[in-house]
Amino acid sequence: MKSKKYTIVTYGCQMNEHDSEKISWILENMGYIWTDDKEDSDFIIYNTCLVRENAELKVYGQLGALKDLKRKNPDLILAVCGCMMQREEIRNIILRKYRHVDIIFGTGNIHKLPQLINRYHQSNETVVDVVEDNREIVENIDANRKYSFKAYVNVMYGCNNFCTYCIVPYTRGRERSREPENIIEEVRSLAERGYKEITLLGQNVNSYGKTLSYDYTFANLLEDINKIDGIKRIRFMTSHPKDLSDELIEAMASLDKVCEHLHLPIQSGSSRILKVMNRKYTKEDYLRLVEKIRNRIPDIALTTDIIVGFPGETEEDFNETLEIVKKVEYDSAFTFLYSIREGTIAARMENQIPDDIKQERFQRLLDTLYPIFYKKNLKYQDKVVEVLVEEVSKNNEKVLTGRTRHGKLVHFEGDKKLIGQLVDVKIDNVKTFTLEGHII
Ligand code: SF4
Repeated sequence: MKSKKYTIVTYGCQMNEHDSEKISWILENMGYIWTDDKEDSDFIIYNTCLVRENAELKVYGQLGALKDLKRKNPDLILAVCGCMMQREEIRNIILRKYRHVDIIFGTGNIHKLPQLINRYHQSNETVVDVVEDNREIVENIDANRKYSFKAYVNVMYGCNNFCTYCIVPYTRGRERSREPENIIEEVRSLAERGYKEITLLGQNVNSYGKTLSYDYTFANLLEDINKIDGIKRIRFMTSHPKDLSDELIEAMASLDKVCEHLHLPIQSGSSRILKVMNRKYTKEDYLRLVEKIRNRIPDIALTTDIIVGFPGETEEDFNETLEIVKKVEYDSAFTFLYSIREGTIAARMENQIPDDIKQERFQRLLDTLYPIFYKKNLKYQDKVVEVLVEEVSKNNEKVLTGRTRHGKLVHFEGDKKLIGQLVDVKIDNVKTFTLEGHII
C-alpha cells in the first residue's frame, strides 16, 4: 500500500518548532512520510502562533489558498493546531470561513492526534478538540528532530507572569515543570544517539522547579545534565530577569558545558513602561543584574528582546531604551514593533502609538543596535572559536555554517561531512550578524 504523506507548516517560537517535531514523530509512527510538496500531501497541518499579527494573517491566507487543493483532492486532511486554536473566537472564524479545515486542536492535546484523525475518518465532519485549561504534562512523546546533533528539550510548560502584551499564559496555561528524571532520561537518550547540544526550553526557565513537590531548581537541573556523557553544550531559553537567581549565575559560571550565552529580554529601558508591561523589574534592577552576571562570567554574550511602541511609550521612554541598549551592549537582539494581541490587557489600553511613530522609533533602535553588534563581533577577529557545524550555507554550497558557544553564526569553507562535528575556526572577517573564517 502506498504510504501517506504529510506536511507541517510551523509559525512562531522554538516551543512551536519543537511541538511540530513531536507531531512529525506521531505521524511517522502512524505510517505517514514527510513531503515538502503540499500538492502531494495527504495530510497538511498548520501549527500556528498568536504572538505576531503577521503570523496570524499568513495562516488565514494559506488556509484560503488551500480550498482549491481540497476540492481537487477530497481525501486530503487539513488540520490547524497551536496557539491560535486556543482562542474560541479564532476557532469560530475557522469553522465559519474555512469549512474545508477538518481537524482543529490546541497546544495541550498534540498526543491525541491519532484519535482525532480516527474521529475525523469516522464522522467525516470537522473535529474540534482543545483543552482550555492546560495543566497536563504528557510524557512519552518523542520528536522527529530537525537535526541529529542538537535538540530542543522542554523542561516546563506555560507561564504565570501575565506580561500585559503577551498571550502565552492564555494559550499555554499556567506554569508546570516536568519531573527532572524525565528530562534527564530524555537528554541521556539523546546523548546515546549522538546529540551534542541541548537547548532546554521553557517560557521562563528560571522558575523551573516551583511546581515540583520537592526542592529542585533550574540550577540543579543544569548540574545534573552537565554530568551526562556525550553532551558537549547546554543552552536554555528564555530567562525572565526577575527570576534569575545568584544560584543560576553560579551554575552557569562553574558548569563547563553550559554555554557563555544568556538571552535576557529587557523589553523596554523605561521603568515606567516596564511597570505597565507588568515585567516586575526596573531599569536599575536589570542593570544591576547585568553587572552581577558580567562580574561572574566576564565574556558572556548577552542577547535580548525589545518591544518598540508599547501603548503610552513617550519619546522620553523610548530614549531610555536607546540608552540601556548602549549601556548593556547586546551581542544581538530580537526587536519587535508592538502590535495589538486580542485577549491581552495591553490590547485594551487606549494610548496606542500610531504606526508611523513606531516605525520611526524602530529604525532608530536598529541604527543604534547594529554598530553595537558589529563592535561586539570585532573581539573575535583573528581568534579561534569552537563551532558546532550545522548545515551547508543556503547561498554557497562550498560554505558551511555553525554556531560558537556564544551563539555567534560562523561561515567557513568545508566538507559537508563535518555537519554535526565540533571544529575550530579562525575568524578572518567580522560582520554585523556573522563571523567568517577558516577551519584550522
Ligand atoms: S514571561 Fe511574560 S512575555 Fe514571557 S511568556 Fe510569560 S507572560 Fe509572555
